[in-house]
Amino acid sequence: MPQFCDVGVPVPLDAVFTYRIPENSPPPCVGGRVIVPFREKRLCGVVTELHDREPKFQVRRLSQVLDSTPALTPELMQLGRWIAQYYIAPIGEVFRTMLPLSAEFRRVIGYHITDKGIAALHAAASAGSSLRSQKDREHQMLEYVALNRLADGEVVRETTLRSASKATKSVLQSMLRKKWIARDDLSDLRDASRTVPTAILKVVTGKLNGNQQKIVAYLRSLEGQRARVEALRELPVPRTTLQTLVRRGIVELGEEPATFRVSGLKPRKLEFLFTPAQRMALDTIIGAVDERKFLPMLLHGVTGSGKTAVYLAAMQAVLAKGRSALLLVPEIGLTPAVAADLHQVFGGEVAILHSGLSDDERAEQWKRIRNGESHIVVGTRSAIFAPLPDLSLIVVDEEHDHSYKQEEMPRYHARDVAVMRAKMCYAAVILGSATPSLETYHNAVQGKYRLLKLPERIEKRPLPEVEILDMREEFHHTHKDDVLSRRLVAEIGERLARQEQVMVLLNRRGYSAFVLCRECGESVQCRNCAIAMTYHKREHGLMCHYCGFARPAPRTCPKCGSEYVQYLGAGAEKLEYILHGLFPQARIARLDRDTVRGREDFERMLSALHAGEIDLLVGTQMIAKGHDVANVTLVGVVGSDAALSFPDFRAAERTFQLLTQDAGRAGRGDTPGKVVLQTFFPDHYAIQFAAAHDYRGFYEKEIRFRSWMHYPPFDGVSNVLVRSHKLEEALAWSGILGKWFHATKLDRVRVMGPAAAAIVRLKTEYRYHFLLKSRSREHMNAVLCAMLQHAAQQKIPRNNLVVDVDALSLI
Ligand SMILES: [Zn+2]
Ligand SMILES: [Zn+2]
Repeated sequence: MPQFCDVGVPVPLDAVFTYRIPENSPPPCVGGRVIVPFREKRLCGVVTELHDREPKFQVRRLSQVLDSTPALTPELMQLGRWIAQYYIAPIGEVFRTMLPLSAEFRRVIGYHITDKGIAALHAAASAGSSLRSQKDREHQMLEYVALNRLADGEVVRETTLRSASKATKSVLQSMLRKKWIARDDLSDLRDASRTVPTAILKVVTGKLNGNQQKIVAYLRSLEGQRARVEALRELPVPRTTLQTLVRRGIVELGEEPATFRVSGLKPRKLEFLFTPAQRMALDTIIGAVDERKFLPMLLHGVTGSGKTAVYLAAMQAVLAKGRSALLLVPEIGLTPAVAADLHQVFGGEVAILHSGLSDDERAEQWKRIRNGESHIVVGTRSAIFAPLPDLSLIVVDEEHDHSYKQEEMPRYHARDVAVMRAKMCYAAVILGSATPSLETYHNAVQGKYRLLKLPERIEKRPLPEVEILDMREEFHHTHKDDVLSRRLVAEIGERLARQEQVMVLLNRRGYSAFVLCRECGESVQCRNCAIAMTYHKREHGLMCHYCGFARPAPRTCPKCGSEYVQYLGAGAEKLEYILHGLFPQARIARLDRDTVRGREDFERMLSALHAGEIDLLVGTQMIAKGHDVANVTLVGVVGSDAALSFPDFRAAERTFQLLTQDAGRAGRGDTPGKVVLQTFFPDHYAIQFAAAHDYRGFYEKEIRFRSWMHYPPFDGVSNVLVRSHKLEEALAWSGILGKWFHATKLDRVRVMGPAAAAIVRLKTEYRYHFLLKSRSREHMNAVLCAMLQHAAQQKIPRNNLVVDVDALSLI
């Protein structure tokens, strides 16, 4: 057996660490998890190499081997290495992101007696002190630890110790302080399989009362399937009713493995009647799967063109061949309704991974995938690391969505990782969108990606008519800065009179965007961030949308004490209020992060809309992401052009995407839809092309601008952020790096900065940044690595430096 192993440890250091393998230890394996001592802690890392090269320095022993077979397959190890290198992220942090480590990992604390403790015990015994006294609780415990040391491999578990000797935490703390005992970490892998209680209907005999009938009716509706007892508890009947039914033998209880809870919603009808364009796209995809070759494809389909049906059919084809497929969706896209659809199509073969799962649920889904029990995985960003065997197809839905970029270490982009993973395992990969990112479309134009087009909506439904409404003109006539134009109000009134549904979208939460003092001209800023706070009427308070800090709404200016404070700019909350005033009869609801806390809220609101229980839905862009509501015939878009004035080279692209998706909500049923787009920039090309449903036109114009300005997809852009709670440190460190960039001869890399970040203070940290541009990935990478080395020599802590390769957010 090799004597040493290198381990990727989850710490912000760009290195692996060597440990000695103890002789009596079970053999570790590459890709398997081990517990290792690191400084004062014990951490769970992943073995990257086994070898016999003895390092020149003192090597510690690894504490425990957790896996006898790799938790990360060779393919995933290779992918992890690529991520670490490409995104300049510590390999241990990358592995931690790839594995649900904490989930299968149980923290167990134990104690053993020290030499000092033994001496104390001897002293107490020879002094003949009574072990009964209150003070000597510690000695009792010490004795217990000492006795058990002989019995049970030196270490006593904390839980055992505390129940056996009735020790309190403070007694333990005191003993630790005296160094009589020492703490051990006995962390262990636990079996992730959990079960939940279920109930099933047997034979119905005798009379049932009303409550009993409710339970029986529910169980009957499941047609022989087991129900979760948890679900029965939600029925409006006393708890004892179920017990009575069990006693009478009508219902039988049992257990089944806990799996993802499918929504109670009825799945929608899936359309598999393909248009010729869908058929062609599907044939290309299945052809690539059959040939087992790496083929990246862009599925560019207008809103409502049936992209999802193509994905599902392709995944079904893969499953039929006994191979695996993976579908990535944006954070908000994976609602219970979508999950229910997938269960209907794929049954038990589908595993679902998203950020709303508990650790246990995630570990269990992971285990099913690893054991080959599910060949279809659907999930958000990190599902790209699902350990699927024989992966043949990866689909990235809404590939332009920014939730695919992880905005913490490691800052990977799941779409780009998907393409790399597909390349490594000879799989087909589909990037789908109605508004592809410039990067992806450029790759398609260049012939790097195969372009598959769905130019028409299904059932030949027309794209909605978009009317651009010039808000400057509106002001000219009314001399008021109303949120809603007279035209939009009139259109809404018409639809409501015809009992059609309306959506009004405004990409801003809260009531008023900011609070301004008329005397000193200051807006009320967050205590922790250099950002104006937003007024929320319901809470009658101000809130920071970046860090969550809240304070009561001020009567007077916090700065100068003036009473002339004004609330300016409208958010979704105010819009709802205005609409209530205009249409008091209408049933109005608001959908944003203030009214929707979780997935269930979201689902409830959407199904109310589906059921026609809402006439008018007001909301932020949360609504706009890919949800079909058949009867919505009018979409009003308010203030979605605000982003155009942001200092961000992606502003036009974002606005175009947003407006196209907004417009795409209208007219997905049998009635043609209309969109009224209010804007202060009616001539801007992003708005003109969005109104004309002309993606190609927008692309042609935007790509020229990117080329002139050396922005992606031509040059790569990386952001280096220097941050600290102390202003002096942030300034000093960015100064050190600035000098280094200046003094170093940079090959084919341009550096701008240091400059104050767009938000110079965020969550109490001061922030300065550099922007690096280069046409060559290798050169950019080399410069960033050299910069990190210099920073380490200059004792700039790694945690205070953020290196964001292919940065999307430049705030
Ligand atoms: Zn003031
Ligand atoms: Zn804040």
